[in-house]
Amino acid sequence: SKVPSITLNNGVEMPQLGFGVWQVPDDEATAAVATALDAGYRSIDTAALYANEEGTGRALAASGLPREELFVTTKLWNSDQGHDQALRAFDRSLHKLGLDYVDLYLIHWPQPRLDAYTDTWRALERIAADGRARAIGVSNFQPGHLRRLVDGSDVVPAVNQIELHPQLPQAELRALHAQLGIATEAWSPLGQGKGLLDNPVIAKIAAQHGRTPAQVVLRWHLQLGNVVIPKSVTPSRIRENIDVFGFELAAADLAELAALDDGTRHGPDPDHFG
Ligand code: NAD
Repeated sequence: SKVPSITLNNGVEMPQLGFGVWQVPDDEATAAVATALDAGYRSIDTAALYANEEGTGRALAASGLPREELFVTTKLWNSDQGHDQALRAFDRSLHKLGLDYVDLYLIHWPQPRLDAYTDTWRALERIAADGRARAIGVSNFQPGHLRRLVDGSDVVPAVNQIELHPQLPQAELRALHAQLGIATEAWSPLGQGKGLLDNPVIAKIAAQHGRTPAQVVLRWHLQLGNVVIPKSVTPSRIRENIDVFGFELAAADLAELAALDDGTRHGPDPDHFG
């Protein structure tokens, strides 16, 4: 089943479901990404921090898939913020990936105490203007950071990639994104598998649909309009996680899942990280 795309605010099409490779070592990333591409994923989410851009790039090259069918995201790490540093870091990422351009380049964290994300953003605007990133965006930006960026620059981020799952549905950010024309991309969409996938409410809904808990959670994201990038290195799970386009959750299911919001964060608080 084919993955639908969403249209970003600059007209670029982004697959609504992709493959995340955080915590996959470089030498394992090649096999994991190859399995994902074989399973039908076309969007891959990596980052300079993940130290697997080379392994990811090797799988992309070996796939033989036309470049225009792939959607590759990478991210600028915290220590590379600042205008000139960001330009250099982007060059390094592109070189490691073995690509001429990426589809999406993100500022990984706002690091508000450093106060460099507006300067950094100007570098990303230049990278986009040069055609070396088809779209640019941010990650882990809170409402205040987004408003400041949008007020002080020419290009509205195409995407904000944030921690988001049924225990942390991020209603305020999703509403602001809708208002500003920013796509919501969910990281740790499965809540890192920890606890969330054992939740009895999710198990019950999964049983009713003849699906797995992970598939129910991914379906919840898709029906909310989120872009999702689940991670697994297990081939059967990689396939399971993309097999989510043949069923639909009912309004009653969505209402039950909405009650799981308890504010759980697996990652750091973006206001105080970096
Ligand atoms: P995730 O929510 O995708 O969960 C992954 C874990 O869930 C796996 O390691 C496995 O233990 C389990 N799992 C996966 N599929 C399963 C299945 N079908 N059945 C049962 N268990 C399953 O967590 P994640 O890796 O943290 O997030 C996904 C991606 O998001 C990352 O790989 C990365 O690309 C991105 N990410 C971005 C940031 C950021 O700051 N921008 C932070 C974290 C993650």
